[in-house]
Amino acid sequence: MGELANCSTCGNLFVQNLRSLCAACYKKQEEDYKTVSVYMRQKKNRSATMLEVCDHTGVEERVVRQFIREGRLIVSQFPNLGYPCESCGNMIQAKRICSSCQSELERELDSLDKPKKTERTVPTNQTTKQSQLKQYLQ
Ligand SMILES: [Zn+2]
Ligand SMILES: [Zn+2]
Repeated sequence: MGELANCSTCGNLFVQNLRSLCAACYKKQEEDYKTVSVYMRQKKNRSATMLEVCDHTGVEERVVRQFIREGRLIVSQFPNLGYPCESCGNMIQAKRICSSCQSELERELDSLDKPKKTERTVPTNQTTKQSQLKQYLQ
């Protein structure tokens, strides 16, 4: 028997498995995925925006975004289907931040890794900031 965990969607206790979802939420998510991918397979929906996809499928935007981020929904042929970069707000179709913010973050992380000796004060929350920045790069 596995350990008990809280479902990341509904918060119910369930026996932990490879997913962080309970069986009911997992089933719902798979149904949502099917609904959205059927919708996206129709040529006429190629120009759909995130709002239209959610409107027409009834699937939550948060869930659709998750599918895109995980690479389950391929949106390269859907120019309007994206979500804002968490850093600058530009439209993106993968990960959490756009590529220019990503390289900026990487530069920033680099400089945090090698603090200059000339700096008068080293911020105490440096590690926190570093891990915050890193999570955007996932
Ligand atoms: Zn659940
Ligand atoms: Zn950005």
